[in-house]
Amino acid sequence: MSHIAYIGLGSNLENPVQQLLTALTELDQLDQCQLIAQSSLYSSKPVGPQDQPDFVNAVAKLQTELTPLVLLDRLQALEQSHRRIRERHWGPRTLDLDLLLYDDDFITNPRLTVPHAHMHERGFVLLPLQEISPEISIPGKGLVTEILHYIGTDDLQLLTVTE
Ligand code: AMP
Repeated sequence: MSHIAYIGLGSNLENPVQQLLTALTELDQLDQCQLIAQSSLYSSKPVGPQDQPDFVNAVAKLQTELTPLVLLDRLQALEQSHRRIRERHWGPRTLDLDLLLYDDDFITNPRLTVPHAHMHERGFVLLPLQEISPEISIPGKGLVTEILHYIGTDDLQLLTVTE
């Protein structure tokens, strides 16, 4: 059975734009996954410690046959393959992949919370999500366009990527 999953991508080390472009291709190549849409890339100020580079963020929409936990396994394997460096909580990283939404499901598992626990607070997730799915709601939280009205997106910049 086919499902729709939204993945949040972030990087602030080792050429973040390239990390994300490669990761988007790799998401499309995952077994039983197809990339349906990808947002533009945005730069954002880091959450937490400010003595680190800005992040580059994007959101991908996937059609998948994978269960949520198997998809999380694949995302974590991709993070590892980008030699993810993670020295401290909310510190710099080469690639961060979050499973934001999986259909309209609520998932509470020791390894996985869906909808992602912080997505509704983060402009760098909501703005790219709105770009690819303007009508979308976060189950239990409401319309992304409405949430964006009150959280603001002043610290975000649309990046123009020339390949
Ligand atoms: P971080 O990389 O700092 O975002 O957190 C990674 C940890 O969060 C892993 O141990 C995951 O099992 C857990 N986790 C819980 N919910 C999610 C989610 N929706 N997407 C990705 N990781 C999640």
